[in-house]
Parts: sequence; structure tokens; C-alpha cells
Amino acid sequence: MRITADVRMGNKSKAAKGSLELRKKEIKTSTKDIKEVYLIVYTAQNKNGAKYKINADNLQVFTKFVAEGKATIRFKEPAQDIFVSTKDVVQLKAFLVAMRSVLSNFHVTLGSMGAAPASHVVKKTRVTMTPKDCGDEAFMALDVTLESLNAVGLELKLFKPRIFKLRNLVTLDLSDNHIKDIPDGVAKLVSLKEMKLSKNRIKDLTSVAMHTLPKSLVLLDLSDNGLKVIPPNITKLNRLATLRLDGNALERLPFSLGKLSDLRMFSASRNKLHSLPGSLVASRSKLEEIDVSGNPFHPPDQQSGKILLDNLVFPSLRDLVFGVCRKHGIRLSPEEVPGALISLMDAGLPCVCGRICYSALAVAFASVPLSSIARTVVSDVSVVVTESVMCSKGCLDKYSNNPFAF
Ligand SMILES: [Zn+2]
Repeated sequence: MRITADVRMGNKSKAAKGSLELRKKEIKTSTKDIKEVYLIVYTAQNKNGAKYKINADNLQVFTKFVAEGKATIRFKEPAQDIFVSTKDVVQLKAFLVAMRSVLSNFHVTLGSMGAAPASHVVKKTRVTMTPKDCGDEAFMALDVTLESLNAVGLELKLFKPRIFKLRNLVTLDLSDNHIKDIPDGVAKLVSLKEMKLSKNRIKDLTSVAMHTLPKSLVLLDLSDNGLKVIPPNITKLNRLATLRLDGNALERLPFSLGKLSDLRMFSASRNKLHSLPGSLVASRSKLEEIDVSGNPFHPPDQQSGKILLDNLVFPSLRDLVFGVCRKHGIRLSPEEVPGALISLMDAGLPCVCGRICYSALAVAFASVPLSSIARTVVSDVSVVVTESVMCSKGCLDKYSNNPFAF
């Protein structure tokens, strides 16, 4: 177990970045096995680390200011005060708890003494948790500079709070656990590019949960979760290049899915889809790959050109106001208008021409060869029905004549 902190050796030296580590040494003799645990202090002056044997007679720990991230570790032999200071209070506490566990002979998982010292100077950037070592203490010991965390198949019921402190995290794999919700704290992971949550129990993904997902995401895997709906604001994740939604209970995909202009790989196999959003065809470059196998798509020849919904009436005053706000980039705030009104405005659907429609709209079917959506296609059918929103009679006529006209 190791932490990085500002370390000052005695009263004379200056505080400098260093790290502290607990390591065990096993000495096997013909008669008995001796286990010793050492605290090793790595500093710029001593890159190989100064070793201090931990036992009750040799060690005193002062924790009066531990809530401020400060502690003093005093050794009698050799006589040395080590002042430790870190912003990461949680990790400092976990480290001191582990030291105390050594004194009282509790089980603590520690590295053994044989490893090359150079490896301690290099920070660990990737960690894979194992079923044997995935308790709260193991999570608390994760270094805040960690870039990749793999915690797969550990029966976790939720995101461990420590994860939200890992601000440098780029890859987070929590596949094959028992997670039900995506908590707000995820929004703190501002460097996150890949989030894998396949084989969990996320049945209900709200637009609020979708809102908390970091905008930096390039890959999102929500396969095999039992999801029924994907909120339309998934398009806020506009850097997504890979989106996997296989093995859920989706009957429909958001109309605006095609707005994810960086999307290259999309999969939604083994769902209940009857159609695909027309936006995947219109105004975007082709996907590299699409996998929509194992879906009960409508037979294209019976549906093509049909109008599913025709409500092309004159827009209401409310819808006109929404349109003006959108056009001029005016954001309504909850202080000014009821929240329900904001939700309604956010729920506007894009016409294939780009205009946002509210209640006055039509929805039309078209038959589209999947080869016009992606270069590589995995599907049981070669032509699918797409559903598109139309803002006007003009757009509807244009689309009915040629769904690729936009
Ligand atoms: Zn239109």
C-alpha cells in the first residue's frame, strides 16, 4: 500500500513530494517464519527509500490534524520524525489505518520486499481490482492520479465514492456488477473517455443521469442492462465515437441520435427495435460500423412512405416562443419559468432540416438500406424502416420523394 504526499524528514529539511509505502519482509528459517513490516519513505533525496521497521515499541503516530490531511510518524530507532501532508485526507486515513492494522496484526494486503525499488518511483496508472481485494479499503487506497480502473465482475452494488476522487481517470470499466444507478458524482470525472457499464442492472436511465455523464466520453457501453429508454439528451455527449446498447429492451432510439456527429461505431443488437431514427441517415457522414442484429424490424415494403403521425397544425404560442428562444440561444432558467416548461423545451425533436419541432410535427417512415448508414453492417435484414420528424408539409413532401434529400 502506497500514498503520495508532501513529506518532511525531521525539523530541518523542507517538505517535498514523496511517497510512503508499507511493505512486508518474510524471513524463513528452518524453525520458524518471521514476518516484518517496514515503512519505506521515498523522497527526491532518497529515491531508493528510507526503511523503518514497524512495531509497537518503535512507532508513534500523531493524528491530531489528520482531518486537515496532516500526520506525524515518529520512529525511535533510527530516531526520525516524518511529517506527512496531503490534500487527500481519505487516503491518508486509510494509510494510517493500515499501519495500525500491522501493529495489531490484522490482515493487510501488502507488497513483498523483493521487488525492484525503481518501480515505486513510477506511479501506477492502471489498477485491476480482484474479487479478493475489492473492499472499501482497497478502493480508498487508490491513488488520485490513477488513469485506468478495471473493477469487473466484483458484485459491486454501486459506484464506490472513492471513484469520484479519481479526477485523472480516463478509463473506467465496471462491467459485470450489480449497479443500478449512475450517480451525480460521475460528473466529477472530467477526464473520463471510456465508461463501460455492460452487464449491470441499470433499468432506468433518466435524462438527469444522462446529464451527469462527463462530456469528455468517447466510448459508452451500456449493453445488457434491461434499459427501456435512452433519454434524448444523450446527444449532449457529442464526442462519442462508440456507443453500445446491445441486449437491452429498447423499442425506440432517440430521434436525434444522428446528431452525434463523431459517432463511428453504434450497436443496438438484441433489442426490440422496429425502426431506426432517420437522423442516422440525414446530414451526417456514414458510420464505420453498425450492429442492429436480433431486432424485430418492421417489414420495409409495408411501411415505406407511410406517415405515422400527422400533426402539422399551426404551432401554439408556446411552441413559437420556444422556437425564438432556441434561435437566439436564450436559456430559460428555473428561477424564471416552471421546471416543466424547461423540460418541454428540451424535449423538442429535430426535423430532418434541422429545425426543432414541438407539438406541431409529423413523423414519417422510409425504407433505407443499412449500407447507406454504415460501411460495415451486422444485421439480419439489409433494408430497415427509419422514422423521421418533419416540421412542415414542405419537408414531408421532400422526404417522401427522397429520404436522402436532406
Ligand atoms: Zn423541416
